[in-house]
Amino acid sequence: MRDPVPAHVPPPPSPRSTLFRGALLVTQDPARRIFRGDLRVEGGRIASVGEHDPTPVDLVVDASGFAIVPGFVNAHTHVAMSLLRGIADDRELAGFLETLFAVDAKRTEADVEVGARAGIAEMLLSGTTSFLDLYYFEDAIARAVESLGIRGFLGWAVLDPELTTQKGVPVENARAFIDRWKGHALVSPLVAPQGVYVCGKETWLRSKEIAERAGALVHYHLSETRREVHEHQEKTGRRPVVWLEEIGFLGPRSVAAHAVWLTGEEIGLLARRQVGVAHCPSSNLKLASGGVAPVVELRAAGATVGLGTDSVASNNSLSMLREMHVAGLVQKNQRWDATVLSAQELLDLATLDGARLLGRESDLGSLEAGKQADFSLFRLDHPTLLPARPEAIVSHLAYSASEEAVDSVFVAGAPVVEHRRLVRADWSTIRRDGEAAAETLWSTRPRK
Ligand SMILES: [Zn+2]
Repeated sequence: MRDPVPAHVPPPPSPRSTLFRGALLVTQDPARRIFRGDLRVEGGRIASVGEHDPTPVDLVVDASGFAIVPGFVNAHTHVAMSLLRGIADDRELAGFLETLFAVDAKRTEADVEVGARAGIAEMLLSGTTSFLDLYYFEDAIARAVESLGIRGFLGWAVLDPELTTQKGVPVENARAFIDRWKGHALVSPLVAPQGVYVCGKETWLRSKEIAERAGALVHYHLSETRREVHEHQEKTGRRPVVWLEEIGFLGPRSVAAHAVWLTGEEIGLLARRQVGVAHCPSSNLKLASGGVAPVVELRAAGATVGLGTDSVASNNSLSMLREMHVAGLVQKNQRWDATVLSAQELLDLATLDGARLLGRESDLGSLEAGKQADFSLFRLDHPTLLPARPEAIVSHLAYSASEEAVDSVFVAGAPVVEHRRLVRADWSTIRRDGEAAAETLWSTRPRK
């Protein structure tokens, strides 16, 4: 294993102050204002958002042809699995997992880094500036985060010691990972118990203890399938959420992915304990989870819900634009109610609510003075944004905008995508490395 990069690496250099002039600003501020105006960035943060800003700056960008939109927060993924896109399509969950586990067991830290670089490139090019990950070899993913300039909330996967292929005790590996990267400008390390099917009481409670001590998040899969719920009920006499409450695990600074199969009691528990939920509709639909996560009830109960793509093995995209679209359609259709989960609410899930899940709502998720300058410039002349009227821009973002409309992306005020090209890496190199690593990985898959 390579030595991890030391913590406290400064953010990438950017001009001291930049003014984006005349953009259509989709602020996501408390009033959800949308207007033509100027956005000024200083020292990596948004210094002002207003109709006209006369302050002298180092660089003025004519942004009149663009909408500026807060960077998307992908609230659940396994980014390094980008090399496995299409490897187990159209399979039942059991067959899907069998293939994935077989290939996962052969992965090396080097190919995890290659896969993470490819996945991060895909996310940046579709306007995502923060993501919450669950995997192992997270040091490799942290290096990819740092070099490409995205914000990574990286969860070291934890399961019971007797079930792991990790060297050492997984939960202690997670603790050491957090120690190595804590305080980094772009990497937020955390602990990620995989799910009730591979984690016993000790593992859950030790994960929580480590997270609390480090001020880190804890991220996990929860009640994704009926089978998971029923098997846990058979084993313990309790449904997963109730069981996690009884063992004393549920609490704030905690993000559960999926949460498809919940009772009313469980919805209430998640809301009361301030557990955030990462809703992953594409993955649930493609793996035929059967149910639809009760997003409307969770929100009504006061729980924070964000949107996640899950991995490209089960989506098969990392685009938050696609995820908003699917999330809206599935809730409306399922409930026979076209009014639920409006375009504005979908954009909230993908930005502000995602930031809230990460405990960073004061810093991320909207265009407001003092927040991190994490945002994208969408081309207003793209066919999928016509008519580019202020009153329709949120609708376009939720339902129609193509990833190709994302022209430029900034993280902490630094350009990471410019005119659809990665700034800090070369896509042809990432692609070449990705194809080579995939060649090896795909050869290990069980053929059925
Ligand atoms: Zn997942």
